[in-house]
Amino acid sequence: MKTGVTMLASGSNGNCIAVSAEGHTILIDCGISLRMLRNRMKETGIDEGSVRAILVTHRHEDHVKGLDKVTEHFAVPVFAPVEAADDLRRKFPSMMPATMLEVGATFTLSGFQVTSFPVEHDVQTVGYTLARESSKIGVATDMGRATIPAEFHLRDCNTLVLESNYDVNMLVCSTRRWALKQRICNGKGHLSNVQNTEMLPKLLTPNTRNLILAHVSHDCNKYEIALEQARNTLTCLQRQDLFLDCGRREGAIPTVWC
Ligand SMILES: [Zn+2]
Ligand SMILES: [Zn+2]
Repeated sequence: MKTGVTMLASGSNGNCIAVSAEGHTILIDCGISLRMLRNRMKETGIDEGSVRAILVTHRHEDHVKGLDKVTEHFAVPVFAPVEAADDLRRKFPSMMPATMLEVGATFTLSGFQVTSFPVEHDVQTVGYTLARESSKIGVATDMGRATIPAEFHLRDCNTLVLESNYDVNMLVCSTRRWALKQRICNGKGHLSNVQNTEMLPKLLTPNTRNLILAHVSHDCNKYEIALEQARNTLTCLQRQDLFLDCGRREGAIPTVWC
């Protein structure tokens, strides 16, 4: 049975990824409204009745904005690292408290072996792998730089979702304040197109089938630039066989399968 990954929303205005197999769907983050989520699930053919749980990467608004309404609607548990779980309790007092993750540990959720691992960001943040039978999905966004734990966990995924947030030249030339520019590229902000492609030789294996770029900045990057840099790297690595796409702010992209 194949596992599907659907980028329902990706970018600084909201992130949500669905991982589905055998009638079970796990959502990773929910930074969009319940209404938008339901619309995008319908468009991409994800059955609302299949949602089993929501995994949260960190407490930033673009990852948790719609979480209270979505949790209430689907009546499913939320799992989050401790800082995010504490913050959610304050932000959404009526929401059922999130289960705190033991970062680095693996647990089973509707047949998926879920593992969280730490990534570098300006608040406590995790990435996830979800493994099921022979398929492994890896997701990491909001990651300031490559680290050994991230490289270890993201290696050998069948579908890899990896941040490609900014183009260095566009960030430098943007109208953003200097302090904000620094925050993005200081190693605890976001992963650039170049940093993304530098990780690929270590992460891709013959088992890797799909590469999805994520959290692309609206003013310091372009989908075409991020895709072109990744495509060039795949060509250098003689991996033109990989399916390459990019999560979008404007709408969901079709589900990829592995
Ligand atoms: Zn974010
Ligand atoms: Zn963030």
